[in-house]
Amino acid sequence: MLYTTFHDLQLSRLGMGAMRLPNLGERRGPIDEPAARAVIEAAYAGGVNYFDTAYRYHGGASEPFLARVLSQYPRDSYYLATKLPGHQMTYRNGELAFTGYLSGEPVQSPATIFEDQLARCGVEYFDFYLLHNVAESSLPLYSDPQLAVVDLLLEEKRRGRIRHLGCSSHGRLETLQQFLDRFDGVFEFVQLQLNYLDWIVQNARARYDLLTARGIPVWVMEPVRGGRLAAPGTQAEALLRAARPEASYASWALRWLKTLPNVGVVLSGMTTLEQVEDNLRTMSTVEPWTSADQATIDAVVAAMADTVPCTACRYCTELCPQELDIPRLIALYNELAFEPRADLSAVLAQLDPEDLPSNCIACRSCVSACPQGIEIPDVLARLAERMAAL
Ligand code: SF4
Ligand code: SF4
Repeated sequence: MLYTTFHDLQLSRLGMGAMRLPNLGERRGPIDEPAARAVIEAAYAGGVNYFDTAYRYHGGASEPFLARVLSQYPRDSYYLATKLPGHQMTYRNGELAFTGYLSGEPVQSPATIFEDQLARCGVEYFDFYLLHNVAESSLPLYSDPQLAVVDLLLEEKRRGRIRHLGCSSHGRLETLQQFLDRFDGVFEFVQLQLNYLDWIVQNARARYDLLTARGIPVWVMEPVRGGRLAAPGTQAEALLRAARPEASYASWALRWLKTLPNVGVVLSGMTTLEQVEDNLRTMSTVEPWTSADQATIDAVVAAMADTVPCTACRYCTELCPQELDIPRLIALYNELAFEPRADLSAVLAQLDPEDLPSNCIACRSCVSACPQGIEIPDVLARLAERMAAL
């Protein structure tokens, strides 16, 4: 495993994200605990020492499960990171409330959430603690002087219950800049969605450059874009196979990230042992990145640029009154975009009538929840048209 120096720590370049642990059942079933335990243990055995979770992952089950598995190891042999779910809260007239799938659940204060996180993880401190998703919708809450979230976290840092403070962000460049100006010098690292496709398509480069200029290291989330770069479609796959027949598609994405000097930890939401093994292989070796490699990736990006940039984060599905499996439908849309004449009858046969995109009522509840800014009802309408034409 390659390691990166952060203060006095040696962090594994590959981090384990606990957002996509294996589930029981096809849809959002409970964590498949034996399978998930095997994935986490394989990552640890392979040298991964950075483990990232959040209050909301797996409906709240990720934090305690991950901490329980890690508790078999010495506490100083791994780094546990979690997040405050301010992006899923509102603060109006002195009242704090959850939104989304947590809506209606009681919440007293960020302080009680933090205590709850420590208790359910069974730890005395978090090595890394983040504000979850600093974006246009969450900036007012994170900056509210009366709620004083950042002051609370700085106090916890002084008490030693937070070792390092950071934030994740899916927000616009200007929002991130505004936030970092407001809390200058407070945040030690920022977690960004970064991969070779978003570098171009979502101008992730501008956010990376902003952080680099401010001397803030970048942790990467969505390095393979929710799995999309692990199966980038026929045209892109042919390009990658021709260049390096033995390399997995995901390994290209991780190798590309290793070329960015300000990237510290690359978090991968690994679901299977095969993914762990493949990622460990990639993140354990120093390999040159050649101009031919970059030319291949440029061609792949050109081939993929028309796809819908869904990362399968599932934030939208919590708000859909029709209970549509939106990321699954978008994956289908992208598949059709790549291979308009593909035989998708087997896939379509798995969709029950209530799962069809034509059930979208265009209420737009999902749109504001999407960190990628996808016009979901438009995409579903186009998919419904294409399916009708098949
Ligand atoms: S616009 Fe369609 S997909 Fe989005 S929440 Fe409404 S019904 Fe669901
Ligand atoms: S459509 Fe947006 S919110 Fe929904 S899963 Fe995809 S990226 Fe996430």
